[in-house]
Amino acid sequence: MERHLPVADLLEDTCLHCQHPNPVTFDELLGPEVPSRNPEGEDAELARLEAMTSEERREYFRRAFERCIRCYACVKNCPLCFCTTCFAQTNQPEWLPRTVGADENEMFLLGRAMHLAGRCVQCGACDRACPMNLPLRLLNAKMAKEAQEAFAQVAGLDPETQPPLSVFESQDKDIAEHH
Ligand code: SF4
Ligand code: SF4
Ligand code: SF4
Repeated sequence: MERHLPVADLLEDTCLHCQHPNPVTFDELLGPEVPSRNPEGEDAELARLEAMTSEERREYFRRAFERCIRCYACVKNCPLCFCTTCFAQTNQPEWLPRTVGADENEMFLLGRAMHLAGRCVQCGACDRACPMNLPLRLLNAKMAKEAQEAFAQVAGLDPETQPPLSVFESQDKDIAEHH
């Protein structure tokens, strides 16, 4: 028996919401380009988050971070978390204790969000990997929007630009003054 199912019922949410379903640079494109299902990049979850007051957002993420068990599945599954050893897992220096606790979790998750600002491509692999169902993609979507507004940079669209929080000028006045 042959059954036909609507493709939208089978796709991951991130595929449904993807603004750039075709690679921006490639050597050989296998198959025809596909139309975007979300050409304007609408993100209802992000809109809901941004409608909150900053206190509500703080509380929303604080409660979510408390659930983290520090399994690092988010790091291991993220295509842009490419460090040989994650800052959360080094012991020389030990940037944060290995213990699972509200403060340590927050430092890990906010640190990771800062690292991925302008780098996260919104693939949602972290969400799918997280056994505790933390809203990781959403956190990084907010960071991506901040990076876009502050630096006019969108991850993955221009191979010539660097993620804004991954580079610095050693002669930068603000950096030089602090060393
Ligand atoms: S959504 Fe962003 S942070 Fe999450 S796995 Fe994909 S690139 Fe990494
Ligand atoms: S969270 Fe930061 S340090 Fe850890 S792997 Fe990702 S980018 Fe690297
Ligand atoms: S996958 Fe989820 S529970 Fe595991 S470290 Fe990441 S946020 Fe925490």
